[in-house]
Amino acid sequence: MESALTARDRVGVQDFVLLENYNSEAAFIENLRRRFKENLIYTYIGSVLVSVNPYKELEIYSKQQMERYRGVSFYEISPHIYAVSDNTYRAMRTERKDQCILISGESGAGKTEASKKILLYYAVTCPMNDHMAALGDRLLQSNPVLEAFGNAKTLRNDNSSRFGKYMDVQFDFRGAPVGGHILNYLLEKSRVVHQNHGERNFHIFYQLLEGGDEDLLNTLDLERNPQNYQYLVKGNCPRVSSISDKNNWKVVMKALPVIGFTEEEKLLNIIAGVLHLGNTQFGEGEEGETYITTETQITKLVKVRTVSLVLLNVQICTNIHKKALLRMISPLNFEQAISARDALAKAVYGRTFTWLVEKINQSLALKDEIYHSNKGSSVIGLLDIYGFEVLQHNSFEQFCINYCNEKLQQLFIELTLRSEQEEYETEGIAWETVQYFDNKIICDLIEEKHKGIISILDEECLRPGETCDVSFLEKLEDTLGGHPHFVTHKLANGKTRRVMSREEFRLLHYAGEVNYNVNGFLDKNNDLLNRNLKEVMCQSDNQILSRCFRREEVMDQKRPEMAATQFKNSLMKLMEILMSKEPSYVRCIKPNDAKQPGRFDEVLVRHQVKYLGLMENLRVRRAGFAYRRRFEAFLQRYKPLCPETWPNWHGRLVDGVSTLVNHLGYKPEEYKLGRSKIFIRFPKTLFTTEDALEA
Ligand code: ATP
Ligand code: MG
Repeated sequence: MESALTARDRVGVQDFVLLENYNSEAAFIENLRRRFKENLIYTYIGSVLVSVNPYKELEIYSKQQMERYRGVSFYEISPHIYAVSDNTYRAMRTERKDQCILISGESGAGKTEASKKILLYYAVTCPMNDHMAALGDRLLQSNPVLEAFGNAKTLRNDNSSRFGKYMDVQFDFRGAPVGGHILNYLLEKSRVVHQNHGERNFHIFYQLLEGGDEDLLNTLDLERNPQNYQYLVKGNCPRVSSISDKNNWKVVMKALPVIGFTEEEKLLNIIAGVLHLGNTQFGEGEEGETYITTETQITKLVKVRTVSLVLLNVQICTNIHKKALLRMISPLNFEQAISARDALAKAVYGRTFTWLVEKINQSLALKDEIYHSNKGSSVIGLLDIYGFEVLQHNSFEQFCINYCNEKLQQLFIELTLRSEQEEYETEGIAWETVQYFDNKIICDLIEEKHKGIISILDEECLRPGETCDVSFLEKLEDTLGGHPHFVTHKLANGKTRRVMSREEFRLLHYAGEVNYNVNGFLDKNNDLLNRNLKEVMCQSDNQILSRCFRREEVMDQKRPEMAATQFKNSLMKLMEILMSKEPSYVRCIKPNDAKQPGRFDEVLVRHQVKYLGLMENLRVRRAGFAYRRRFEAFLQRYKPLCPETWPNWHGRLVDGVSTLVNHLGYKPEEYKLGRSKIFIRFPKTLFTTEDALEA
């Protein structure tokens, strides 16, 4: 058989399990580096794909490449995201079991690009009729829309997803895509009102200002220069060289109708409304009362209403002139007024985003008639979610993100070990216990009822009387002091740990230590929106907004769930979804912080290898047998090495393999024969055989 692998593909090892020195991190990184220098950005750990962001366009994603990977087994061809896509697809088809592909890695590592390549692979290679092609189109077109509203330029990534995304693609019994569904997680709403230096707000704001035509901007009472908007100036970075807001605007406007969107006017009104809201300024009166100083802004909000812009219905708009809005905010002091305004902007944007996702879901929904004629359908889920994050200053958001990664790690441990174990069992091979660090203790520390960090945070938010971020920290210390994964400045002997601030707690995550500053934890968890403002929003004649802010919510006396608990519950649901599926993993690595091609920063990569748990992953994979292959594939590849199996073996497959390995001189401790696969313990055995083939 002709090998699809070329000499260049063989730089280093294409599967880390074949590394001689598999316990050595240095050897691991050297292998990654050597391959990266040759533009070989993909390497396996067994069935896990490790991908290093090349920061340049490689010619490996063409349609011809897709064809190369169709129906071909992992080991016969160089590692690729298409191989994972194809194997997952075939596993779904042949085993009739739902699959999922979990993509992880830090910001800028290439998760979203990977997920787009997988989707594209299915859109191009799956059998389709016209209806399905339209669906494939919608699946692909939902991306630019979601990215416009959910992505932003950050210091780490010019197109950073500021929300987590899980997408199901449904296939019918013929393997054609027939539906899709998206779940979104924890949009970083704080970005709407504040951006760090060198960062931007969500792309859509700049796209609208740059790409919208004069008439549109006039109708929305907007000026073209982003620097005129308070919500866009904080990062002092209106333009990004790698991004064309103008072109992206066109792409988004084209995509909206494809995903069945007919309300773009209302949507843009909301975007403009948020900008106008941000320019609403306050002053303090002599008696400490707060009032709006930007009268023109009120006029704009009023005008804005006439184009059904933001929030206010006729009555309230007129009331604004009678200072009703002032009455509404007068009990608030200056800071409170600002934070009420910002809370409104965040709520409006956040809910509009959720609404947008629902809209996309409607357009991807499995149509009833297909659903009924399509009982044998299965699903491939794609998870593109924030990786473990350690910033200079870590807050509530990083806490949630890192908690999410603890959960995913737990799932990984359970599923990987489970599938290893299951494979050994089905093949009738004795299972050997593998030692690994179980991070359940950290998950419990965060999520346990009554005594976990999230419970304590909720309690502190609800406790009447004076509570603040520091009282929350004290409560944490009282309850969790002494926990092996929880540290504050207080030492057990009553002394203080000088290197830690009094506003921080440290968690010893599976991937490393992170200090969290408690400032803002209570507010962010509360995520409260002034009841009056909610009421105003319910009455908005912008139908998107009136659907986002329901009257029942204002009437309901029950306090809604707090942010961390909501997140915890949605993660629990996600875990359930993933547990019921067969997982594949893509681990993405960012090679340098400069976003440049060709640069491989070893220190940076080493961190990620650690955070992603890759060494542990390799160890688990190597604990039993380094390498396994189905009898047919093994015979097919190595049969030229033995006169009794060449050119063809006519007996039972297992006997053929046995004859072959005897001829090759394999020792009994080097391999085992299962029911359908041969398991090889050491890479060296396989190398020798491969060399013999080459000779
Ligand atoms: P975040 O968590 O911030 O959303 P991410 O992991 O999703 O980050 P991506 O947006 O996928 O990161 O990738 C960042 C950038 O890296 C892309 O905009 C692109 O320029 C480049 N990139 C990533 N993967 C590839 C690839 N396979 N080929 C070429 N360029 C890539
Ligand atoms: Mg992303």
